[in-house]
Amino acid sequence: MEQKSTINFGAGPAKLPQSVLLQAQKELLSYNSLGISVLEMSHRSSDFGKILNKTESLMRELLNIPDNYKVMFLQGGGSGQFSAVPLNLIGLKEDRCADYLVTGTWSAKAAKEAEKYGKVNIVHPKLDSYTKIPDPSSWTLNPSASYVYYCCNETVHGVEYNFIPETNGVVLVSDMSSNFLSRPVDVSKFGLIFAGAQKNVGCAGVTVVIVREDLAEMNSLYNTPPCFSIYIMCLVLEWIKNYGGSVAMKNLNNQKSSLIYDIINNSDGFYVCPVDQSCRSRMNIPFRLRTEEGDEALEKKFLDGAAKRGMISLKGHRSVGGIRASLYNAVTLEDTEALATYMKEFQKEHM
Ligand code: PLP
Repeated sequence: MEQKSTINFGAGPAKLPQSVLLQAQKELLSYNSLGISVLEMSHRSSDFGKILNKTESLMRELLNIPDNYKVMFLQGGGSGQFSAVPLNLIGLKEDRCADYLVTGTWSAKAAKEAEKYGKVNIVHPKLDSYTKIPDPSSWTLNPSASYVYYCCNETVHGVEYNFIPETNGVVLVSDMSSNFLSRPVDVSKFGLIFAGAQKNVGCAGVTVVIVREDLAEMNSLYNTPPCFSIYIMCLVLEWIKNYGGSVAMKNLNNQKSSLIYDIINNSDGFYVCPVDQSCRSRMNIPFRLRTEEGDEALEKKFLDGAAKRGMISLKGHRSVGGIRASLYNAVTLEDTEALATYMKEFQKEHM
């Protein structure tokens, strides 16, 4: 098998561990010597049942999920949960209202979707730009809200919470699509956590929902689940476990992101990250060249030069522009070092 020479810094679907791809390739035609592929297997078969159970138990082990939580593997993506969450939870109390923290594109979308189902209260003054998390002392939480919602890592803007919001007993819901299993998390603090798998724990097609039992009504076998995506997730979870679990992921992700932020911080303004230091994402690092508005011609040169070195998908989201390096779990330290070296060389050449 040829070693891949391309380094994928895409925001998702994102890089998968090489060993996972090799295993999936090996088992593609005949899983476990059964003579059929997971792609062809009945979701009610005992063989698929074993894959599903193993995926769930790995997930429970890696995140230390308490017994009173269900783990579901669903379709519909993170966006599906933007409506599933209010559909299922906003009506828990009579006046149908929910509190939202809006710190980037994804929580803004979720809040807009929720407005279809009830009253949405944005708990802080509207932000001029998505570069910080408003201080919790400025939030006005509604004690009779059905839930408080936030996006733990804003993929487009590179804003990440490094604390769990305090809700005074109101159910807490979090979109962890882009930092799921990148570090340990105290699941017991949440009513519901959801995450699309295609960034940190697998491929597109499956969304993980971890929900406190009293808030849930079904499990993953209500209809045909995304079998192959679950199987890939199972392989990624095994890889995470062998790597040392969520703590090892956290250490790796801290190390990788520090490498890039150190270059930005010490670049004398050549690389500019607009996000407040206190909430810079370890997963998605957006930056511009020379000024906060960027230098588009130079940024194009940066991206072209990166592509020549095999580093792809570094273009910033179209709504933000510039560069964005996504450093999900499967991006290695070596991958990140290659980017760091390139950034230093590019700066030297163009400062
Ligand atoms: N939430 C976050 C934080 C995301 O980054 C994304 C997609 O990138 C979504 C939700 C939407 O996920 P999906 O495309 O699976 O609907």
